[in-house]
Amino acid sequence: MDIAKNIREITEKLPKNVRLVAVSKTKPNEDILEAYNAGQRIFGENKVQDLTKKYEELPNDIEWHFIGHPQSNKVKYIAPFISLIHGVDSVKLLKTINKEAIKNDRVIDVLLQFHIAEESTKFGLSPDEADELLTSEAFTQLKNVRIIGVMGMATYTDDKDQVRNEFRVLKGIFNSLKNKYFSDSEFFTEISMGMSGDYPLAIEEGSTLIRVGSKIFGARNY
Ligand SMILES: *Cc1c(COP(=O)(O)O)cnc(C)c1O
Repeated sequence: MDIAKNIREITEKLPKNVRLVAVSKTKPNEDILEAYNAGQRIFGENKVQDLTKKYEELPNDIEWHFIGHPQSNKVKYIAPFISLIHGVDSVKLLKTINKEAIKNDRVIDVLLQFHIAEESTKFGLSPDEADELLTSEAFTQLKNVRIIGVMGMATYTDDKDQVRNEFRVLKGIFNSLKNKYFSDSEFFTEISMGMSGDYPLAIEEGSTLIRVGSKIFGARNY
């Protein structure tokens, strides 16, 4: 894999309002540094332990994103430095993040994850569940966690129309939350959707954060 070339090919075509999260999970520091030296600064990981190790070992101007669901008991390890947590889908997790953010005297940005795929295994809220969360007494008391947008994963399929429709659903959810709950807030701006196989479609449908791994770093060996 020519990691630097892959980064350039993806970023060259990105519209101004779309940022690339280079998903470096399972990949070694050398690979991340290759991307870093090509100018990439945002990296995404989905294991707390790997993330904290990489954070300590790699340049400190990297913006680290957590792209899955941190376990509640591990949030404390990433709370000091994490820039964005993409996969939040419960008040319980929001409370934990808020608590750890207070300990670090900061506000942590998160995205609400929605279930837009056909597969039932994927995490995420329904629009009704999001309404319940956002209007709950518990949520209104959280001052150190800030919801800056939404995140979703489309069905893993070759059917482009289906994928496009699922991205459209997420964009619709974003618009409706923006109108209902965040119309005054300048910070509710992010739609995290699109991976190696479907990010061009996601951009067409309004993505602002694409999360691309294998297309940059090659296939992962778990
Ligand atoms: C692994 C992962 C990605 C990147 O997947 P690729 O298909 O390798 O681009 C994106 N988003 C999430 C949530 C992931 O876990």
